[in-house]
Amino acid sequence: MPFFSPDPYTNKRYNMQSSYLKKHFGRKTVKISLNGGFTCPNIDGTKGSGGCIYCSSKGSGDFAGDPCMSIAAQFDEGKEKLSGKWGNELFYIPYFQANTNTYAPLDKLKRLYSEALAQENVVGLAVSTRPDCISEETADYLAELSRQTYLTVELGLQTIHDNTAQLINRCHTYKDFLHGYEMLEKRGVNICVHIINGLPFETREMMLETAKELGRLRPHAVKIHLLHVIRGTVLAEMFERNEFAEMDMDSYIETVCDQLEMLHPDTLIERLTGDGDKETLIAPLWSRDKKSVLNGIDKELRRRNSVQGCKYSGNMIV
Ligand code: SF4
Repeated sequence: MPFFSPDPYTNKRYNMQSSYLKKHFGRKTVKISLNGGFTCPNIDGTKGSGGCIYCSSKGSGDFAGDPCMSIAAQFDEGKEKLSGKWGNELFYIPYFQANTNTYAPLDKLKRLYSEALAQENVVGLAVSTRPDCISEETADYLAELSRQTYLTVELGLQTIHDNTAQLINRCHTYKDFLHGYEMLEKRGVNICVHIINGLPFETREMMLETAKELGRLRPHAVKIHLLHVIRGTVLAEMFERNEFAEMDMDSYIETVCDQLEMLHPDTLIERLTGDGDKETLIAPLWSRDKKSVLNGIDKELRRRNSVQGCKYSGNMIV
C-alpha cells in the first residue's frame, strides 16, 4: 500500500488555500468580505424569482459588509475585525461575496473592483458569481484584471445534476456552468468552484460524481459546502414538512474525504464546511462545531492513509 504523506508545513492531507497564500505572498493573507450592492438574476425575475431555495435574505453573503457603506469603509471595518484575531501584519484579498458580483454593467464592475484593489496591503481580488452571468466582455475584463493581480472568480456550481439544480431553483444547467467556466478558463482566469453536499435527494454517489467532474476540470480552487437549512427560506419550509433529511456528520466527513481523493492534488481547498449565520441555522446543528468537522476530516484521511488527489491520475479517476 503506498504511503501518502501530509503537507510538511501544515500537516494537512489536503492543499489548503491559506497555506498557499502565505507561501505565495510571504505573509498571512486573508479575505475581507464586501457587499457591492449587486442583486441576482435568480432573485430579480430575469432568470427566476425567489432565488435558490437555500439562499438567505443576504444573498448568501452573510458575512459581507453593509452595501450602504462605501467599499473603502467596508474594507476598513473588515480589517478592524480581522486585526483582533490575526493582528495587523496581514495582506488582504477583498472578496465581493453577496449576490451575483458580475451582474451589472462593466463600468460599475470596474469602479467597485478598482476601489477595492486600491486599498492598502491588497494583493488580490475574489469575485463570487453565477456561471451564467459572465459575458464575453466581462470575461475579457476579468482576464485583463488577472494579469494585474491575483484574481479568483468563484463560480457556484453546487451540483452537476440538472434534476437537483431544478429542484433547488438554480435556474441554470450544468451545460450553462461549463459554458461560463470555459470562457474564463480559456482566458487564464483562476476559478474557484463551489459545490454543496447534502442537497435534497442527492445520494453519496451523486455527490461523488460532482467531485469527479471537478477532478476532470482541475479548477484553481474548490469550496465544499454543507447544505445549511436557514430560517425563512423555502428549504426550511421543506425541511419542516419532513420532505428531506439532513446529512449526518459521519456521512459528511466520509463524503468529503472521498471527494478530496478525487480532486487534482494542486487544486486549492478554500472551504470544507458551510459557514452560515449560526443564529438563523435550523439544521444540521452539528455543523456549528466547525472544529469537530475539520478534525473529523483530518482523522478520516489519516485512518485511510490517504491525501487529496490520491485517486486522481491524469484525466482518469483511479
Ligand atoms: S445564485 Fe446565489 S445569490 Fe442568487 S439566489 Fe442563488 S444563492 Fe442566492
